[in-house]
This record gives sequence, structure tokens and C-alpha cells, in this order.
Amino acid sequence: LFVTFEGGEGAGKSTQIRLLAAALRQRGRKVLMTREPGGSPGAEATRHVLLSGAAQAFGIRMEAILFAAARSDHVEEVIRPALTEGAVVLCDRFMDSSRVYQGITGNLEPNFIEALERVAVNGVMPDCTILFDLPAAVGLERVRQRAAVPPGETGEEVELDRFEKEELDTHEKRREAFLDIAAADPERCHVIDATQKQETIAASVFSIVEAALSR
Ligand code: C5P
Repeated sequence: LFVTFEGGEGAGKSTQIRLLAAALRQRGRKVLMTREPGGSPGAEATRHVLLSGAAQAFGIRMEAILFAAARSDHVEEVIRPALTEGAVVLCDRFMDSSRVYQGITGNLEPNFIEALERVAVNGVMPDCTILFDLPAAVGLERVRQRAAVPPGETGEEVELDRFEKEELDTHEKRREAFLDIAAADPERCHVIDATQKQETIAASVFSIVEAALSR
């Protein structure tokens, strides 16, 4: 089963993925946790470039192609082999992020995004996508708080990356775009109110994935 997690900045995806992975492993499932951009050595190297200041010099098309190149490597090197072995693959962001970040707020034409998506996923589409929805201002405040923790104390990347520094209305536009994608594909996409308590969200996530596993 291939499950992807989507949402804006500070939505709590990575925490929820960790909780879900632990719950699934406790029940004897083989689980692979991974993320985009990144997830394979080649794609992690690309992530490093994409999230750095150097990427400011890239045009939006170049950027979209690099995200797709990283996705292609990640799919072929990591995701497809894990699915073949029967693992439950939990991926932090996937093609919906490209539809939203490069497509909607990057203003790239849908044909361009669709063509890249087809090449990159090469038939590996998520069975289930969980969208963590929250007001952009709430998510950004969480990111700022996280960044305020002295480096080393959380063990996470604490630098604000260049996408997290964008205007609030850009983030709100992305929120709407994610909701539109979910509404257009209700079989695959499940929207969760990410302002709820962590345990409440974890329970919803678990029941969605349990249902998908028993289908
Ligand atoms: O999920 P995470 O915050 O680690 O994602 C890293 C950054 O890459 C995010 O700030 C996100 O906005 C950006 N991104 C993007 N296009 C994608 C995937 C991620 O701009 N297709």
C-alpha cells in the first residue's frame, strides 16, 4: 500500500507519519517511511540544492523538472522496490505537492505539470493520500516556533527553508489548491483538520490507513 501525506508548512505531517509507522509496525506490518523531495541518495542531493539559496537562480520550469527528476529516482530506487516487497510505504509529500507548489503557485501550465508527473511516477500512484488541512497562519506560526528552538534540541532541520519564507497569501492559495485536489479525487484523498489534538489526528490517520489496508 502506498500512502502519501500532503499539506502546507507546519501541518504536522512528519510527526503523524512517525506515529502511524510505529502503530503499523506494532501490528507486524513492514513499513517504509520516506519523504520528498528526497528519499533516495540522488533525490536527497537534489533536495539539498532545491531548498537552498542556489535554487533562487533557477527558473520555475527548471525547478519543476528537478523535483520530477528527484521523484523519478525516488520511485525507481526506493518506492517501487518497497511496494514489490509488500511494505506499506508512507511518503511525506508526493506528486500533489508538485501540482500545488510548481503548478498552482508556480503558475506552470497544467500540461507541463501533468507530463512531468507521468514521467516521474511511471505508474506508481498513491493508493491513499492524507491531506492535513489548517489555516496557513497557524502552520507558519508552528514553523516559526520550531525554528526558534536552538539547533540540536529537536534533532530536526530548524532553518526556515526558502518556501517557508513566502507570503501568507501564497500559503493560503496552496491550502485551497490542496483542498481542490482532494475534492476532485475523494476515493484517494482524505482531508484531516490538522488543528485538532495530535492523538485525535493520529487516530483518524490510523483508521483511514487500516481501511485502505483491508480493501
Ligand atoms: O515537507 P517539507 O517542509 O520538508 O518540504 C520541503 C519544502 O519543499 C517545503 O517547504 C515545500 O514547500 C517544498 N516543496 C515544493 N515542491 C514540492 C515539494 C516540496 O516546493 N513538489
